[in-house]
Amino acid sequence: MNAQRTLRRSISCVGIGLHSGKRVTLSIRPASAGAGIRFRRADLGGLEVPATVQHVGGINYATGLTRDAVHIDTVEHLLSALVSLGIDNVLVELNSPEVPIMDGSAAPFVYLIHEAGVKTQSAPRRYLKILRPITMTRGDKRISLYPSDHFKVTYSIAYDHPLLRHQSRTIRLSEDAFVDEIAPARTFTFLKEVEMLRQQGLALGGSLENAIVVGDTGILNNALRFDDEFVRHKILDVIGDMALVGHPVIGHLVAHRGGHALHTAFAAQVLEESDAWTLVEAPSQPQRGDVAAAVAIKESV
Ligand SMILES: [Zn+2]
Repeated sequence: MNAQRTLRRSISCVGIGLHSGKRVTLSIRPASAGAGIRFRRADLGGLEVPATVQHVGGINYATGLTRDAVHIDTVEHLLSALVSLGIDNVLVELNSPEVPIMDGSAAPFVYLIHEAGVKTQSAPRRYLKILRPITMTRGDKRISLYPSDHFKVTYSIAYDHPLLRHQSRTIRLSEDAFVDEIAPARTFTFLKEVEMLRQQGLALGGSLENAIVVGDTGILNNALRFDDEFVRHKILDVIGDMALVGHPVIGHLVAHRGGHALHTAFAAQVLEESDAWTLVEAPSQPQRGDVAAAVAIKESV
């Protein structure tokens, strides 16, 4: 059995919201087994929003969660770090509507989680193991999950720009692989989009400190962290968005030209196609010989 995990202690940081430009304090607190990842707006009387597809609302260049009058924006990079480091249960508290962008990657959140330390809990973790392919296509965008013994992601992107016409990468996720290969990859935008975003009241906190900005002839930042930092960031994003299914996924996720709207719609589709997966207590747990137990686990969710 792999046990659920939370943080050993609470930890906080201060940053700014990418889109709002507002200063925000983020605190991540331990939570009991089975609680899942939940967000709380301290400035709104402590109302909570679980990080699940049922509460997705407001996809505008970032993934938002909404419940009643409470909205939390730009949750994906923090969720990506939490699930990739095997954190099942935490309460994330904010005093503003947006998770701070930090440096545009998940590396600062990895640092926070490592600083807080990890505590193993007594309840078993349940993985969502893919049994048959699930696919969603929207125009030239496509995302699928296939059966696999491990969580793997293959992502490909294609833009009409000389710097990143095509990038593709496959990674088998582990805590170390995420920390070394994916977490440092920063979000990116095109210079010609920045003005449009600003006119919509978005990206007000954006700068070369928290995003790669791609101009017509090159990047405006000093250097990339990886030659293919762009596709690595898309992998970071899709891991965070898929966290909204509420369980670590055991399967091979393959995406082409996706974005937050497609990722989160797909996460909802996965939960709807409940004959395409089962919940197991270990990634390698055999299925066929123990259908009754698997069904019992699923029904108890
Ligand atoms: Zn992102």
